[in-house]
Amino acid sequence: MEPLVVGSMASSSYQVVTSESGPQTRFIARSLSLHVSIVGYSSMEHCSRFRQALLRRNNLLRSPRQDTTCMLRFTSQNKFGGDCRKVQAAVDDFYLGRTLRVPVAAACLRNHDKDESRAKDRLPVPVEETRYFNFIVIGSGVAGLRYALEVAKVGSVAIVTKSEPHESNTNYAQGGVSAVLDPSDSVESHIRDTIVAGAFLCDEETVEVVCREGPERVKELMAMGASFDHSEDGQLHLTKEGGHSHHRIVHAADVTGREIERALLTAVQNNPNISFFEHHFAIDFLTKQEGSSVRCYGVDTLNIKSKEVLRFIGGVTMLAAGGAGHIYPNTTNPRVATGDGVAMAHRACAVISNMEFVQFHPTALADEGLPIRPKHRENVFLISEAVRGAGGILYNQSMERFMPQYDSRWELAPRDVVARSIEDQLKKRKEKYIYLDISHKPSKEILSHFPNIAAVCLQYGLDITKQPIPVVPAAHYMCGGIQTGLSGETSVWGLYAAGEVTCTGLHGANRLASNSLLEALVFSRRAVEPSIEYALGVGISHQDIDEAKEWPRVIEASAVLDKFQLQNISTFTACQREQLQQIMWDYVGIVRSTERLEIAQAQLKELESVWEDCLCKHGWNPLMVNTELCEMRNLISVANLVVSSALARQESRGLHYTTDFPDLVERQRFPTFIFPSFPISLKGNSQVIYKMPVEPARISEKRGDLS
Ligand SMILES: Cc1cc2nc3c(=O)[nH]c(=O)nc-3n(C[C@H](O)[C@H](O)[C@H](O)COP(=O)(O)OP(=O)(O)OC[C@H]3O[C@@H](n4cnc5c(N)ncnc54)[C@H](O)[C@@H]3O)c2cc1C
Repeated sequence: MEPLVVGSMASSSYQVVTSESGPQTRFIARSLSLHVSIVGYSSMEHCSRFRQALLRRNNLLRSPRQDTTCMLRFTSQNKFGGDCRKVQAAVDDFYLGRTLRVPVAAACLRNHDKDESRAKDRLPVPVEETRYFNFIVIGSGVAGLRYALEVAKVGSVAIVTKSEPHESNTNYAQGGVSAVLDPSDSVESHIRDTIVAGAFLCDEETVEVVCREGPERVKELMAMGASFDHSEDGQLHLTKEGGHSHHRIVHAADVTGREIERALLTAVQNNPNISFFEHHFAIDFLTKQEGSSVRCYGVDTLNIKSKEVLRFIGGVTMLAAGGAGHIYPNTTNPRVATGDGVAMAHRACAVISNMEFVQFHPTALADEGLPIRPKHRENVFLISEAVRGAGGILYNQSMERFMPQYDSRWELAPRDVVARSIEDQLKKRKEKYIYLDISHKPSKEILSHFPNIAAVCLQYGLDITKQPIPVVPAAHYMCGGIQTGLSGETSVWGLYAAGEVTCTGLHGANRLASNSLLEALVFSRRAVEPSIEYALGVGISHQDIDEAKEWPRVIEASAVLDKFQLQNISTFTACQREQLQQIMWDYVGIVRSTERLEIAQAQLKELESVWEDCLCKHGWNPLMVNTELCEMRNLISVANLVVSSALARQESRGLHYTTDFPDLVERQRFPTFIFPSFPISLKGNSQVIYKMPVEPARISEKRGDLS
């Protein structure tokens, strides 16, 4: 058996230990801030036994200090031989954040004291394996940031986000936030518009709460430094979008989301109670079933850059991981929107709701129609609803205005109606795009309201003040998600959720334009007091923490697989991902049918099994993770949730249109729920939700009481 290297930094010594009968570790630890690293091992089994032994050394690892944790590193390759100097260099390198494979062949003991100051200079923050916070927030869009800023007033907060801090759907939002801020407008009118757009499937209590609390949330945002457009009279400049009967959209030109994200990120970065973990991919929640309930203790994450698996344990976990646009090939969502949040929550046995309602934005920039075609891009560029609100007109390629044939509200009809009308035109005329024209408006007005859209189009040779814009529908927003109550609570204890990842009941069967930033603001705020109460009350005990930190962990695939295995897995996964997106586009798009949904279901099943077979063939096992694999697994899961929910709804309502059931059916006016495969108690939810027998997606038929 090969020996192990055990290194400790910022303390005194490290040892290299070898043993035939398993690890015998002797630590010479001087301070509590000991960081332990295994940089080599001979077999997974050995490693795992070693890890258990290490974790049992409670006096060493169970320190009251948050930063005293243990980090483990696995490898099966022996690159360095048994030279002590190489081991030392390897350990140093390791702490500089590089990925190393450093098994050694000889036992050695070396005092580290002499090198300590040098090492400290080079390595101010060693990576740790488990971190403890009062609140763990997954996602750095508007929902996550807004929540973090509030709970940071009472405790420590970790924000975990999978890419750059700003990368989120929030950052791309153009139109604005809807809120009743004009004296001639009314909350009742906003409520009515929301419910009409939602095809009467909205939860009325939720709608009322959001519309009433919205104006206050927008004012708070401004107090935090978000700067919105004002008219010459000094009042907020409010625009009007499809489905709204008043001007009530607060905006920052056509880059509202970017401005909100900027303001919130600045506040977060200045907050000493908040620690930011960017490029940390949340893999799965740490959950435990207790009777008929499930409790969440935190989350396992993968540091995408260093490849470490880092465990976060906390009193409350707030899931704000956004949307799932990338289950489709054409989406306005950035690359991060792969439905991770919904998939993780589903695996953690949270109730999921209304997944059939995927919003396709009618007007995304059609690359085919541009004078200069952009190179391949991850997401399509959105031409905001506000362009139609400002008088934009839709034409087919013969420059015939077609919306009057479909709806009396013409271009200002809700998005589902406009998207279906465009799809009908494209199919009938066998064309790839239609036009959205705003060029009849004064160019000064166009450029002042839509500077970003104008600039992006100009990059591709199109002047929107003179030419019509080629557009097509694209997947844009997920109305369904994790079922939450009025305080953002989910059916999993200790797990709260806010923003696009949720289904609060606000949107019903279709989202009213600019209501989603609003929903995220309202619910991230509403979750604050109840979750603080939970963290301080029920919370998480020392015993829970000790238990949770010892639960089995996953391993980053590159620590185990070789370059060729990884390359094969990666290429195949990318190809399967494209195929999944195509299945969803072809069979689960804007217009659906039972037959096509069943084809999608069968094809997704086949795809999943072929994909897993291929992974296994290349040495993968279920304990191995990397970003591509995790995203793919989540995309498959969310795609299946959408298809099974769509099959369950035997009517056409809002965003779900099926040719087999083209009409609204009043007795089907209930949300769709997907329950975990064992009975759960819904005690944690304040909102009345419909109780269902334990089956995958079905439309609920009656309201049940909450025990
Ligand atoms: C192009 C575009 C325009 C839009 N325009 C408007 C508009 O004008 N008005 C409006 O109201 N709404 C608009 N929306 C919708 C709105 O922007 C979103 O619904 C809202 O911003 C969602 O906020 P969120 O905080 O829930 O999620 P997001 O802002 O998407 O944030 C999710 C966060 O979670 C992180 N994350 C995801 N998965 C993981 C993981 N596994 N591990 C760690 N982190 C993870 C992401 O990196 C991101 O930081 C628009 C959306 C798009 C795409």
